[in-house]
Amino acid sequence: MVVTPPLAESLPSLAERLQALTSALPPTTRLLAVSKGHPADLVRQAAALGQRSFGESRLQDAVPKQEELADLPQLDWHFIGRLQANKVRGVLRRFGTIHSVDSLELARRLQRIAAEEGLSPAILLQVKFRPDPTKTGFDPAAVRELRPTLEDLEPLRCLGLMTMAPLGLSPDQRLELFRECRGLADDLGLRECSMGMSGDWREAVAAGSTWVRLGSALFGRRPIPG
Ligand SMILES: *Cc1c(COP(=O)(O)O)cnc(C)c1O
Repeated sequence: MVVTPPLAESLPSLAERLQALTSALPPTTRLLAVSKGHPADLVRQAAALGQRSFGESRLQDAVPKQEELADLPQLDWHFIGRLQANKVRGVLRRFGTIHSVDSLELARRLQRIAAEEGLSPAILLQVKFRPDPTKTGFDPAAVRELRPTLEDLEPLRCLGLMTMAPLGLSPDQRLELFRECRGLADDLGLRECSMGMSGDWREAVAAGSTWVRLGSALFGRRPIPG
């Protein structure tokens, strides 16, 4: 008799969900715990269970949480939301990795301000592989043309690409989209692919994701909409 394990996201405790999700990931895929919409205390619980990398999508929500968690300097914060020009300095000061660089103009601004601040954050370029009015991102063709530019973004370290699948795709269509992202990153010589959320991380992992960004599968429903 084949016993199917319960879905990781339906397990009752944070410890069990974290354990089940991390053990479902291959060694090349890391888990970014998306704590947006959840209180600092939940981040502290996950950190006590060994989770280090956390994702937030709004600077103004992240700041008080990070301050509350200032006694945990090992935490590795990733910015995953739409980044407005006037938030660039604040985000650079508080996040070591930015997944949502969606224009060359934003990259240039990050570059200039990171240099002023003496910082060298990791960045990922957000790419839009399908029409989706709810999302921003580079056109895949535009990213290919940017290739020579990627080398002169210092002190930024451009490590890879990030993408999100639009709602309404079948699992096969999502797999295909994530493979396109992996293929583009490989063509550009970029290691990281940040792809896969609670509803589609399995397809993203199958396609070669190196970061899955999981919020609700890990922490449950967000009490505060994010
Ligand atoms: C909110 C968010 C996530 C996590 O979403 P879940 O569906 O809760 O896993 C991942 N990536 C981005 C960019 C997000 O804004």
